[in-house]
Amino acid sequence: MRFTESFIPTQREIPVEAENISHQLMLRAGMVQQIAAGVYAWLPLGYRAHRNAQQIIREEMNDVGAQEFHLPALSPAEIWEATGRVAAFGDTLFHIKNRPGLVLAPTHEEVIAFIARAHVRSYKELPQTWYQIQTKFRNEPRPKSGVLRGRQFTMKDAYSLDASPEGLDASYAKQEQAYRNIYTRCGLNFFIVGAASGAMGGSKSQEFMVESVAGEDNVAVCDNCGYAANVEAAQSQTQRVNFATSANESPEEIFTPNIKTIDQLAQYLKVPAEQCAKSRVYVVEGAPVLVLMCGNDEVNEMKLQSALGTGTFRAATDEELAKFTGADAGSIGPLHLKTTMRVIADRRLEGAGGMISGANKNDFHLMRLVFGGNVKVDAYADLRSVAAGEPCVNCGSPLRIARAIEIGHIFKLGTKYSDALGARFLDADGAEKPIIMGSYGIGVERILASYIEQNNDEKGIIWNRALAPFLVEILALNMSSELVRTTAMKLYDDFHANDIEVLLDDRPDVSAGVKFNDADLLGMPLQIICGEKNLKNGNVELKIRRTGERIVLPIDNVLTHVQKSTTAA
Ligand code: ATP
Ligand code: MG
Repeated sequence: MRFTESFIPTQREIPVEAENISHQLMLRAGMVQQIAAGVYAWLPLGYRAHRNAQQIIREEMNDVGAQEFHLPALSPAEIWEATGRVAAFGDTLFHIKNRPGLVLAPTHEEVIAFIARAHVRSYKELPQTWYQIQTKFRNEPRPKSGVLRGRQFTMKDAYSLDASPEGLDASYAKQEQAYRNIYTRCGLNFFIVGAASGAMGGSKSQEFMVESVAGEDNVAVCDNCGYAANVEAAQSQTQRVNFATSANESPEEIFTPNIKTIDQLAQYLKVPAEQCAKSRVYVVEGAPVLVLMCGNDEVNEMKLQSALGTGTFRAATDEELAKFTGADAGSIGPLHLKTTMRVIADRRLEGAGGMISGANKNDFHLMRLVFGGNVKVDAYADLRSVAAGEPCVNCGSPLRIARAIEIGHIFKLGTKYSDALGARFLDADGAEKPIIMGSYGIGVERILASYIEQNNDEKGIIWNRALAPFLVEILALNMSSELVRTTAMKLYDDFHANDIEVLLDDRPDVSAGVKFNDADLLGMPLQIICGEKNLKNGNVELKIRRTGERIVLPIDNVLTHVQKSTTAA
């Protein structure tokens, strides 16, 4: 491609709407253009990188025996009703106004189960893994991160169909390996977190993440052993507390006028905040449950959900607090409750003595509480979110809390979709059974944006060979020089003839400085600089974008040098 053919020029101004560096650079380099909120056009330069990412994904999917499909974006609402996902997606699902009964698919589990129902008859036809690279539609509420969160985006979605749980394990393992290969080939520095698969209804799921300030997920990371988990689910080594002064303590009531918070209580009594146990009352499926936390630790509701075994709970209202406990929010505790209720405490409190908590009587607290002694606890559970610096659950090194981008997600789905849509097969013994499914998604745009987040400098993008729109950019510095013009064109033709993807900056009216800056902004791995001075000695300059290293080479050696060069990988 030559700049003077039909190349889209760079945008010199940094667009104001760009919130993160990858979005800024993609707009400035002319890779994408925003058409509406969360809707992007891929311009030729960007689309080349997009297709490179797609191709890597396609090769790795084919390599693990997955078959490529192309499913429609329009989808009958009834199959989404059958699985309950019209309600589950809610406003995120686009409905078609002038053709009721059709929705725009945000993912394709339903359609796959629908196809499997018609085509799979027997266990002999399993396993299967089906995939596509296709456009997805999601009415994201606030799409403000560029292509990282579009309302229309490209997903590679794969679905495994198996006859047994062991089969699913094997299909899942193949996809996991394919994902590792894909992200490695794309040059992403990624990590994997285990995630609770909650609403998807499966037994196991993992997210592939890239650390980046542009991310919308918070993860706890251990740089020592590689442990990583979403903050929602992350664990640290439990730091138990104990303030016991004698073996047999009995509760003692104290007057604490107008004390409402843990900090006020700790200050008033001159004790550490951790010596105070905070009480929260939840209404769980209609019944009150007391949740006790250490000091200022907050209840992590995702963890509470796992501990309770249900998502149907809410914080009690002020009126309910008075009714259940006899006190207002600041004076609640585990003893002398008005209503008998289940008591769940965070693990930090297991066995803790010398503790202080509300007396269930306004303006009074109880001292010398012993968890598991004078305070009966029905269950201990990990209920708090980890904080930066806490010891890693595996190795004890301090955890770091970082922002991250989710670039892929793999799920063991089970039979939710095949049950709902009747996708069954006949087992070896003739019994009809639901197909066991897995689902595996990759955001193609997120690969590109994450790559740019991790590979840029103040001048622009730094592409690797795998994703680069072109491997080489030739800069013809002064097009009015016959020597520059002919040499640049000759190199350009030679590269073409040898199947090397090459971009030629042959703009006649643009200064060398602008060409240098644009080449750095666009970020092709190798730049070949054709300037008159070097050409007169039979040389050109080759610049490696990532390192800035420049080598002067005889014109005749450039092609073989580029062919052999691996430094730009
Ligand atoms: P998020 O939590 O970021 O919304 P998700 O859990 O909804 O992601 P999945 O439904 O698992 O995402 O979709 C599979 C993959 O598709 C994600 O891992 C991500 O890479 C990509 N993806 C999801 N939503 C978007 C979007 N709005 N724009 C671009 N890519 C997306
Ligand atoms: Mg989402």
